[in-house]
Amino acid sequence: MQNKQIQIEQDTPSHFPGLYVHVPFCRSKCPYCGFYSIASPTLIPRWLNAFKKEISHCKGHFKEFDSLYLGGGTPTMLDIRDLSNLMDQIFNNFDIAQDAEITIEANPCDLNREKAAAIKSLGFNRISLGVQSFEDNELSFLGRRHTARQAERAMKLLRSLGFENIGVDLIYGFQGQSIKGWINTLKRAIEFEPEHLSCYQLSIEKQTPFVRLYKKGLLSPLSEEMQSAFFLTTSKFLEQHGYTHYEISNFAKNNSFFSRHNRKYWHHVPYLGLGPSAHSFQNSTRWWNIKSVKKYCEMLEGGKAPIDGYENLTEEQLRLEKISLGLRTSQGLDLNKIPDSPESNNMLLRLQDSGFLQIINNKIMPTKKGFLVADQLPLYLLSFAEHS
Ligand code: SF4
Repeated sequence: MQNKQIQIEQDTPSHFPGLYVHVPFCRSKCPYCGFYSIASPTLIPRWLNAFKKEISHCKGHFKEFDSLYLGGGTPTMLDIRDLSNLMDQIFNNFDIAQDAEITIEANPCDLNREKAAAIKSLGFNRISLGVQSFEDNELSFLGRRHTARQAERAMKLLRSLGFENIGVDLIYGFQGQSIKGWINTLKRAIEFEPEHLSCYQLSIEKQTPFVRLYKKGLLSPLSEEMQSAFFLTTSKFLEQHGYTHYEISNFAKNNSFFSRHNRKYWHHVPYLGLGPSAHSFQNSTRWWNIKSVKKYCEMLEGGKAPIDGYENLTEEQLRLEKISLGLRTSQGLDLNKIPDSPESNNMLLRLQDSGFLQIINNKIMPTKKGFLVADQLPLYLLSFAEHS
């Protein structure tokens, strides 16, 4: 098989498990968001008590964690005392590696100097800032609470406090947004030299206000050509400015800033998820928590683990999932994960010749064009895996 020499930054994912905590509260719900959270802070004290009980159910089931990720929801909505209490619970009950990557998702308008300094002193060494856009009209379309100015202030503040690993989350590809406006947002984001950027294409999620607008014909998704133009523009622009495009939506200054935590999801490394709707994975089992703060609290108050369901993956399912996840990252997957048959070799060659894949040192890696069709790419390979 012909190998094309392409320089790709390699990374080796850690094999230590990751710990995820889902903080299920937001001040208001953004109309596009499909993540579980409620805009009702009155339940925070009850949730915190239930969270302590959940920890006691899970304690000792996982070895040392080398990543901790507070997501949601909006973790920075918790006041300093609650955040500190939460972190004490985690550190007193779990083994967290000394050099762990400890991330918090933050909303720019929650960060004043006192709060940001407290976040730093609590041990967070990575912050993922939900900026989404630097255009105020787009922020208002997205129902965000903050302005572009507040996002800029938050980034300056974090730098002035010595945060050395700042991630910026952005959204593109929505009605009314131009490529020019999007490049302006990217330019303004990189002025602050964030170590990491996540650029998500807007998707219309089930049970959101946006899907209702879509059904009424008041919101239309971008054409495939435009989606592709936004994606390729993003990748080209950020690579020209020194970022590595290491996963479909993720870019980093170099491989030391690839998200250690998220790589666990893409590489089948075990993770424990705590909080309503959080998912966990260990050995061949995946399980998930109930998607309701109230029910989560009731179950734990009644002495039960808040688990809503689980699945035991067969060897074959695990293998197929590995292929599927592997093709989402620039690191790709080992060639030996694909059956060595004339049919699969032919298919690989065809995908390589069509510019979807590259094969380097026995690794199959998606190209930019491959990233664009990342959801369909595994289907081609899987059809061969299944029929060979
Ligand atoms: S996008 Fe973030 S802030 Fe908005 S509702 Fe979803 S979790 Fe909350």
